[in-house]
Amino acid sequence: MRKPLIAANWKMNKTVGEAEAFLHDFIPLVKEVRDTDIVIAPPFTALSAVASRIKETPVQLAAQNMFYEEKGAYTGEIAPGMLTDLCCTYAILGHSERRQYFGETDEILNRKVKVARSYGLTVIFCIGESLEEREAGQTFSVLQREVQEGLKGVGPEGIVIAYEPIWAIGTGKTATTGQAQEAHRFIREKLSALYGDAASSIRILYGGSVTPENIDALMKCADIDGALVGGASLKPDSFARLVNFTR
Ligand code: PEP
Repeated sequence: MRKPLIAANWKMNKTVGEAEAFLHDFIPLVKEVRDTDIVIAPPFTALSAVASRIKETPVQLAAQNMFYEEKGAYTGEIAPGMLTDLCCTYAILGHSERRQYFGETDEILNRKVKVARSYGLTVIFCIGESLEEREAGQTFSVLQREVQEGLKGVGPEGIVIAYEPIWAIGTGKTATTGQAQEAHRFIREKLSALYGDAASSIRILYGGSVTPENIDALMKCADIDGALVGGASLKPDSFARLVNFTR
């Protein structure tokens, strides 16, 4: 059985004070949750404050990005050991905004995934097609390439996939449950080709305009094991509702 995972990607939102105010309201709403993993990825500047506040709660900490070198002259970058030092246990890698705006290629992401895993970080590895790619019938070839190249030489342990169709991120357009399940099943087939039986234990999250209104239907799909959530994770009651989705 795959334990559901609901992850918040706060992107470039929330000061330290705003993150603390969120947790003040959010933690009481989820403190009894045991059957779903809860992950929050605040901006780097709030990692330390969030780490202090989530001790002895079911909430786990993620970074939104990470560099593949361990130290050195890389102005502005954050090393994996800096994240584990702050009690991060997860790292989101390959988010489409990183691929699109910051030029992160499959090769760069593969290096990042390998280094993150060598530090024991669980990787939430994001993949997904653009609208043009979907309309050109390239969805499956894009997903196949991103899985194969991004996970080259990487074992199945500590890997979570997030399928995020780019056209659904922050747009209010969610994939239908049919579109999402079809993509998730395809991804699981590709993971099976790479990892054999171990693929059945890998969680595949859906991301793209997930809200309290559509989470229950998405979570009923056979190959959807959780959600990576941007906009709807910014308010405590909304994110708590997502964590407490109806089974
Ligand atoms: C995301 O950024 O990963 C995301 C899915 O955003 P949103 O939920 O706002 O579409």
